[in-house]
Amino acid sequence: MKAVADAIVRVKPGRERSLLQRHPWIFSGAVASVTRDPDAGATVDVLASDGRFLARAAYSPSSSIRARAWTFDEAVHVDDAFFARAIARACAAREGLQDAAHTACRLLNAECDGLPGVIADRYGETIVVQLLSAGAEHWRHAITSALHRVPGTRCVYERSDAEVRSLEGLPPRAGVVTGTLPPVVEILEGGLRYRVDVVEGQKTGFYLDQRDNRAHVRLHSRGGAVLNAFCYTGGFTLAALAGGAASVLSIDSSAAALALARTNVAQNPSLEGGRCTWREADVFSELRALRNRGESYDVIVLDPPKFAPTAAHAAGAARAYKDINLLALKLLAPGGLLATFSCSGGIDISLFQKIVAGAAIDAAADAAIVARLTASADHPVALSFPEGEYLKGLLVRKRP
Ligand code: SAH
Repeated sequence: MKAVADAIVRVKPGRERSLLQRHPWIFSGAVASVTRDPDAGATVDVLASDGRFLARAAYSPSSSIRARAWTFDEAVHVDDAFFARAIARACAAREGLQDAAHTACRLLNAECDGLPGVIADRYGETIVVQLLSAGAEHWRHAITSALHRVPGTRCVYERSDAEVRSLEGLPPRAGVVTGTLPPVVEILEGGLRYRVDVVEGQKTGFYLDQRDNRAHVRLHSRGGAVLNAFCYTGGFTLAALAGGAASVLSIDSSAAALALARTNVAQNPSLEGGRCTWREADVFSELRALRNRGESYDVIVLDPPKFAPTAAHAAGAARAYKDINLLALKLLAPGGLLATFSCSGGIDISLFQKIVAGAAIDAAADAAIVARLTASADHPVALSFPEGEYLKGLLVRKRP
């Protein structure tokens, strides 16, 4: 692979500012000129209008994010060794997050680890990688071979089948890249055994970003009736059982997710799965049905999918968030706790808090925030890339 830039991208006067602040995206509207018509993923040098070096970046001709910076340092060459160093650095930063009771971890968090478009999650001896930008695709071999060299790795599996790939003009791709995929991929989180469906599961198979928040719920579940809405493969369900919940009702619309959730409970015999009820249903209508029946819960988890990928979807998404939070606050017993989340990039924490506050007013619930929740420490947010902070949550207590 070539170590020097293939072309030069010049930005318009005044559009160098975000790059000087080390924000890695160069939008098409900021580009004044491009030399030599570089291929998708080619390395380009990005210069200010006065010719000053700003960044070395991956070019993406079909995306409105026309280039993504690999480095802001002119002395750094983008070559195989660059990716090996970045991956070694990201893994070293996460050493303290893995131990005998925690065998899964996000290793690469894209822009926030200096590798735009590259996500890698470790599930024991298997690493699942997502290459979501033209640059990530271009350096696929360098990235996946460096991942395969991470100590303890036997398989690198690719799940580059996310919708965002199409914005980069890339077709979906999934399958084994190196090694052999074990018949069952299993992890420990908080000492609990979870099976991860890396082939058919959502994203890379498991929502590692909720690790710390599952620990929160575990701490607060003792003796309570717990409702886990949008339960997927039972992440919060197992945490609540381990925390001593009296009962856990888990709801999801995906039969496959529920099946794996049941397996996950069953393979932890100490959890006494008899405390579980499972419901394949739409959360919106099921919460209404529970409210109409006058049910009540001591702990409710609301972890819906992304309702607003961008700010343009915020209004519709706000109504959906308000709806489920209102119903949850009605279903919450006095003194009960609601752990409510949004993973929508288009809804920031202050808007999310307003939505939950509005829901509390409409539910006539007197409630207070007792903790603000975010993604776990293996999902760092670069200070120069606030877009990286997509997951926000509130732990809300209803006054007794
Ligand atoms: N809390 C989970 C992750 C949730 S992901 C964990 O810790 O692992 C979001 C889940 O919501 C997915 O499993 C998806 O199947 C489910 N889902 C999406 N829309 C839904 C709806 N309207 N009703 C019920 N489940 C829904």
